Amino acid sequence: MTDQSALWLFADQLGPHFRTGDLADRPIVLIESAHAFAHKRFHRQKLHLVLAGMRQLAAELGDRVTYLRAPTYRAGLAEYGRPVVVHEPGSHAANRLVRRLHREGVVTGIRPTPGFTRTKADFADWARDRRRFLMEDFYRDQRRRLGVLLEPDGEPVGGRWNLDQENRKPPPKQRTLDVPGPWQPRENAIDDEVRADLDRMARDGEIQPIGVDGPRRFAVSRAEALRALRKFLDDRLPTFGPHQDAMLGADWAMSHALLSVPLNLGLLDPLDVAERAAARYEAGRAPLACVEGFVRQLLGWREWVWQLYWYLGPDYLGRNRLLARKPLPDWWRDLDPDAVTARCLRTALTGVRDRGYAHHIERLMVLGNHALQRGYQPRELTEWFATAFVDGFPWVMPANVIGMSQYADGGIVATKPYAAGGAYLNRMSDHCGRCEFDPKVRVGADACPFTAGYWAFLDRNADRLRDNHRMRQPLNGLSRLSDLDALVEQEREREDF
Ligand code: FAD
Repeated sequence: MTDQSALWLFADQLGPHFRTGDLADRPIVLIESAHAFAHKRFHRQKLHLVLAGMRQLAAELGDRVTYLRAPTYRAGLAEYGRPVVVHEPGSHAANRLVRRLHREGVVTGIRPTPGFTRTKADFADWARDRRRFLMEDFYRDQRRRLGVLLEPDGEPVGGRWNLDQENRKPPPKQRTLDVPGPWQPRENAIDDEVRADLDRMARDGEIQPIGVDGPRRFAVSRAEALRALRKFLDDRLPTFGPHQDAMLGADWAMSHALLSVPLNLGLLDPLDVAERAAARYEAGRAPLACVEGFVRQLLGWREWVWQLYWYLGPDYLGRNRLLARKPLPDWWRDLDPDAVTARCLRTALTGVRDRGYAHHIERLMVLGNHALQRGYQPRELTEWFATAFVDGFPWVMPANVIGMSQYADGGIVATKPYAAGGAYLNRMSDHCGRCEFDPKVRVGADACPFTAGYWAFLDRNADRLRDNHRMRQPLNGLSRLSDLDALVEQEREREDF
């Protein structure tokens, strides 16, 4: 007889997968664990999205759901009182808990995690004996396996796998991209209830959220997620590509998809999303470079960082190749952009405080770049990204933060550190023109902290980076700086960013 135990869903497994197939008739258990909310200082809007997502699902499925509020998951399951099956969760810690509960008989079956296109075993097969360990190779394999943007002979449509060259344009000379705004949810009674509960929990000291409350901006139900996706495909996918790496101070969303929240809550299936995007290209409704760029993010980068989380294991979080040891400053930890002068940093931090969101280039080339230059402790920084962003979940952080943005793994994820000075920020954003700092100035009161920080970073890490051939040119540049001593001294003392 097959096991008909209820399906216990974590808050990031809210997707459509249990609505059809052999899970369609299962009772569902959802547990609001007080510990899960309170043990870290999450962004207020992140807590809202997670709670609203769970409660929305419970309201939709009615009697099928047993909804429990408990101090911990374990206590919730004890209250439920019957065995459950579960999907593999999205963190090492939750995975350990599930395995323990399995040994104790509380969990009777563990199914693969929904919401990703490939099993961990599949990935391990792909990774085994590889001489090159590159996202690009993985991405091509994904396209071939999944048949996305592929000619019948297995070659990429348009003849190239990668159209990134067309997607790196600086910002246009206007304040905003001038594309229709993103989909906006209409809040409902569940949002009101969640808001009141979070207010009370904060008042009673049960939680200490960071960031500010604000209107909900992201989808938390399947129906909302499909609406948000459709609006993105209709209005923004056709312009997704060209300015993907650019920043405009007055346009926080630009043409980004803003789909990471519903994707990470499990409400959208990535292959389905990629196929719908590919269909827009096939119907002549979006340029190939835009669609390929989007598919690369989704079936390439997103799946790559998920697989690396498991493949590289929990010890990967402890990597610190550049020996970065500085604690995060209070203004950073408490999301206080008013303490910051540099417009790029101030804008990105304002986005995190007000929306729990900054787009990819702000995360990598402003926030990550600043942290790299200043030598913030990578594990602490990872924790910050995981809690301060509305789409932050444990699996997404290590490859993005330890690997890509901090080079703390010594080159597994990125071939060189993503460090850049003010000239890069000036080219790719409209911030510098109105900034009190000057991106061309290295030493002096108006020296740009990114320009000076870049050289100070290279100086501090020169010996550790010398064996990387991609760093040869920057290190040669460093050796030619006549004002290096003054610059290093200035950056050592710097308190004003
Ligand atoms: P778009 O720019 O429109 O991209 C489309 C989709 O591709 C995203 O929704 C996302 O699902 C996926 N994607 C693209 N790049 C990545 C990537 N590197 N890793 C995972 N998914 C990717 N992504 C998160 O989902 N949660 C995080 O907490 C997170 N933290 C990050 C921290 C750092 C330092 C960096 C460099 C990247 C981080 N990312 C994270 C990846 C990426 O920045 C976000 O997925 C993206 O900005 C989300 O906004 P969007 O939906 O508008 O994405």
